[in-house]
Amino acid sequence: MNVLLVHAHPEPRSFTAALRDQAVETLQAQGHQVQVSDLYAMDWNPVASADDFSARENPEYLVYALEQRLGVKSQTLAADIQQELDKLLWADLLILNFPIYWFSAPAMLKGWIDRVLVSGICYGGKRFYDQGGLRGKKALVSVTLGGREHMFGEGAIHGPLEDMLRPILRGTLAYVGLDVLPPFVAWHVPYISAEARQEFLASYQQRLENLGQDQPIEFPRLSQFDDGLYPLAQNTR
Ligand SMILES: Cc1cc2nc3c(=O)[nH]c(=O)nc-3n(C[C@H](O)[C@H](O)[C@H](O)COP(=O)(O)OP(=O)(O)OC[C@H]3O[C@@H](n4cnc5c(N)ncnc54)[C@H](O)[C@@H]3O)c2cc1C
Repeated sequence: MNVLLVHAHPEPRSFTAALRDQAVETLQAQGHQVQVSDLYAMDWNPVASADDFSARENPEYLVYALEQRLGVKSQTLAADIQQELDKLLWADLLILNFPIYWFSAPAMLKGWIDRVLVSGICYGGKRFYDQGGLRGKKALVSVTLGGREHMFGEGAIHGPLEDMLRPILRGTLAYVGLDVLPPFVAWHVPYISAEARQEFLASYQQRLENLGQDQPIEFPRLSQFDDGLYPLAQNTR
């Protein structure tokens, strides 16, 4: 299997980086090919802008997604986007590895998503969810958190973790057609003992060694909706 691991943490010796290294080591030991995009180390530009296109459909007014489609067709996407896109299309499994910032991903990673998951390849028209452009590939999110496990869930102070990760798990990864595996979560990372952190690394290794057994999370299928994307079961038009 080909694996693209996108890592976003500003500190090279962070615990999140230890999870990245654990993933690379474990997956390579199993014979998988792994490429890592270490966004801070690459000095990745996370800002979607007109500079992302060397030719424009409409030079007067920027409609970013439409220009992405032209960029795909005419191969005029910025070189850094094209390189990441090539890695993404090569990969059978995409791993996003990052610390939770404000219930979300660091801006660096959000900017990778904005710029690399291009319209015209990853989605477009009615190609989303199970019809998304990246269908057939898998995705895994591995996150570190400051919060404790009991702070997440139904009735817990922060609500369910799945709600917090919804923009990434559903609105991004499932949207472009990836089979999204349940996330790997290391809780309360800065406040626990070094031994407890080692246990997270060991359980991540175990998880990665048994990825084939993971069932993807259920998301909507377009066949459950009519042409106007109203749910077939409760069509209220
Ligand atoms: C802007 C911002 C917003 C945030 N928002 C949220 C939020 O919404 N919700 C939330 O829960 N948290 C939030 N946090 C907290 C953040 O998610 C955690 O601080 C982060 O995930 C911890 O992981 P880390 O990799 O940065 O840990 P680090 O601070 O890098 O590491 C923790 C400790 O692990 C040690 N370590 C490194 N490698 C190893 C190893 N191999 N084995 C054992 N120990 C090791 C390090 O030396 C360090 O002592 C936020 C933080 C910031 C900066």
